[in-house]
Amino acid sequence: MPELPEVETVRRSLLPHVGGRRITAVEVHRPQVVRGGHSPQALMRGLVVTGIDRRGKHLLISAGPQSPCICVHLGMTGSLRFCPPGAGPGRGDHVHVRWRFGNHGHMEFRDPRRFGGVWSFNTPEAAMRARWSSLGPDALIIRPRDLHSRLTRTGRGLKAALLDQSVVAGLGNIYADELLFALRLHPQHPANRLSAAQVQQMVYAMRRLLARAIAARGSSVRDYHDAEGNHGSYAALHQVYGRGGQPCTSCGAALQRQTIAGRTTVFCRQCQQLC
Ligand SMILES: [Zn+2]
Repeated sequence: MPELPEVETVRRSLLPHVGGRRITAVEVHRPQVVRGGHSPQALMRGLVVTGIDRRGKHLLISAGPQSPCICVHLGMTGSLRFCPPGAGPGRGDHVHVRWRFGNHGHMEFRDPRRFGGVWSFNTPEAAMRARWSSLGPDALIIRPRDLHSRLTRTGRGLKAALLDQSVVAGLGNIYADELLFALRLHPQHPANRLSAAQVQQMVYAMRRLLARAIAARGSSVRDYHDAEGNHGSYAALHQVYGRGGQPCTSCGAALQRQTIAGRTTVFCRQCQQLC
């Protein structure tokens, strides 16, 4: 699933192509993936894109404070791609919505497994109220004190707490496992037993991890690609995710694969002991 670094990479790679461009036509091929109004007007036909914002794994494409806007969530297999003019029809399969920018190309939302979607709203304020108010602060900007108070409210294990988007927005299975390994913390370590100093270390490690992953344009697992169709290279730097059974890069022990918080979790029994 695309997580914060992948969604941020989509945002950054999409904005130069669509920012300042007018949407001249909208085609909805599968109305079920659009929540809210399905009309071309509701999906921003006639408007000039002025910004793309992100919180956690969610994107908001807008055209000013008083204009209709759309939220996009990529789910498991979703992608938002810009196709320049003359690029041909591209992959027509699983393209659910297409936004055309006159003769400047088009943007398309594909989602083979359909866990993602597009939501239309009358204004960005309404979108944020409906879609973003239940999210915790974004993982790139959350402050140590805020994360500490959020973690002290839950006796769950750290893996479950970090995956909870209402605690901190943006981490998924990949970066939660990578973060816990970087901090040498067991995925089932009770979240409310971290000290303020440990949470501060966690926040700094999280920023470093996410910044490095964004610099590598994300991790391409499954079919992830950015808005220009490029794959990310961070998967080659994963220390634990996807490496169950392989040697720990730190101590050489075989990495453990176990279902924790309902997700396949990989960690090192030696380096991340439950104490
Ligand atoms: Zn180890």
